Amino acid sequence: MNTLRVFPLGGLGEVGMNCLVLEQGGEALLVDCGVTFDGRGLGVDVVHPDFTALEGLHVAGLFVTHGHEDHIGAIPYLLRRFDMPVFGPRYALGLVRERAAEHEILDHVDLREVTPRQRVRVGSFDVEPIRVTHSIADATALAIRTRAGLVVHTGDFKFDEAPPDGETFDVARFEDLAAEGVRLLFSDSTNIDARGPTGGEKGVGDALEAIVSEAQQAVVVGMFASNVHRLRMLGDIAKRHGRKLVMLGRSVRTHSHVGRAARRSTGEHAGEPYIEWPSDLVWPADRARELPRRAILGIATGTQGEEAAALARLGRGEHPALDLESGDVVVMSSRVIPGNEAGAMRVMADLLRRGVTIKSWWSDRGVHVSGHAHRDEQKRMIEMVRPRSFVPVHGTLHHLGRHAELARELGVRDVHVLENGDVGELGTEGPLVKTGRVHAGRVHVFAKRALPASVLHERTSLAANGSAHLVVPVDAHGRLAGEVLLSTKGVLDETAEAHLLASARHEAEAAVGELADGAPGGRPEEAAIAEAARMAIRRALGRVLGFKPVTTVTVLRLSR
Ligand SMILES: [Zn+2]
Ligand SMILES: [Zn+2]
Repeated sequence: MNTLRVFPLGGLGEVGMNCLVLEQGGEALLVDCGVTFDGRGLGVDVVHPDFTALEGLHVAGLFVTHGHEDHIGAIPYLLRRFDMPVFGPRYALGLVRERAAEHEILDHVDLREVTPRQRVRVGSFDVEPIRVTHSIADATALAIRTRAGLVVHTGDFKFDEAPPDGETFDVARFEDLAAEGVRLLFSDSTNIDARGPTGGEKGVGDALEAIVSEAQQAVVVGMFASNVHRLRMLGDIAKRHGRKLVMLGRSVRTHSHVGRAARRSTGEHAGEPYIEWPSDLVWPADRARELPRRAILGIATGTQGEEAAALARLGRGEHPALDLESGDVVVMSSRVIPGNEAGAMRVMADLLRRGVTIKSWWSDRGVHVSGHAHRDEQKRMIEMVRPRSFVPVHGTLHHLGRHAELARELGVRDVHVLENGDVGELGTEGPLVKTGRVHAGRVHVFAKRALPASVLHERTSLAANGSAHLVVPVDAHGRLAGEVLLSTKGVLDETAEAHLLASARHEAEAAVGELADGAPGGRPEEAAIAEAARMAIRRALGRVLGFKPVTTVTVLRLSR
């Protein structure tokens, strides 16, 4: 049968956690395997796709399009459960290697570097990366030859006519593929609502340079550390203006390390590192205070308002390396992702109180451009590829729906919106057909371990209502054999409101007493005692506080 099945395990219906499965004859090819984040304050480190649907399939390999976390972050979790080679461009694999080392699985991973226009067989699939431009070095789209025909996946892209690393978008290859006939196109939907041109990365370099050249004191640029192009440009700017680069934040150090260590595999600069900084350009952060203020060009993480990141710590005056003061400039060289505005505004407020001048995308449009194609460039992609079938990817349901509309307007007849878990089936002829669903879910990770749904639910309740713990001493007959002990966490001030605790405790004691009186033979079971005490405490505290803490009880049987 020349049937191809496609089902996303992540990234469709959300921005993040990209993971797409292509399957033919029981054999699967994965495209990307990323994470997303959980902003609910429940101590979840990352969220990755549930891989259950891969069981029973032979997974021939994983192909990554580029090195962003939403495309590679879940690889260690995938490889803990399934063995498979990981194919990808060099820069992405450099980052995968760092992740694998952190997870102590480096010895077991099989990383296979590929370069654009190089066709590789992955099981029964034939995969060819194609150079695209994006906000990270070495980004690719994929041309995948399947039994149903040629499938093109754009990866994350925009059309940057003059990328700082000189690695231009391989338009010619896309045109060749279109001439060959593209059966199905998956394309990046992120910026479907954005009008006008996306703007090139070099323009951002010019805007940042203008700010640095005018500044009289320290300049700190907050950005996504993965934007290697921007890191490179900041190095050049520092050189031209007699400043030293000071790395503030762990991921800035990781990316500058990978960018300097890995050598480029393609283009006219093949063999050179992605980032070329002379060793004296980077100044050790712990000695930043020794530099004159006007020699500091800091690069910091935390533009999304993350509490523990460098920008927030600088705002609170808690950064070990650097104190910001009146006259210093902070550039927020990134967009604030919807949902993160409140945190970002809090960080900016702290910085403003220190007298720092802030340049942000709101006041100075030039300090950031998106890495994702705006609507007109998405249109250009569809017109260039002219696919027979189209499935938008990388977006919330809103983004996918709007991108689907655009494709229909452009004359693509067979357009489908798939969500995580939806299965689409495609033959060599006819439309894509939705044939059902596979299991798709989210795995929440804390300290590298999966948190079961029940634990997440408990964390939600604890965060909202706090906890109370009760110790109930009873004798052999189930009668109280001393005072009930009650302690709480995150509920009230136990010293100032001791009377509330005391009265709740008395109610618990009364409930336990009543139970012993009413029980057959006067010997209630421990479980019954615990439940009576728990209900009494929840009732008593609920009445005075207006909420019921998560309550646990230990019944202490004193033998006498
Ligand atoms: Zn990306
Ligand atoms: Zn992405």
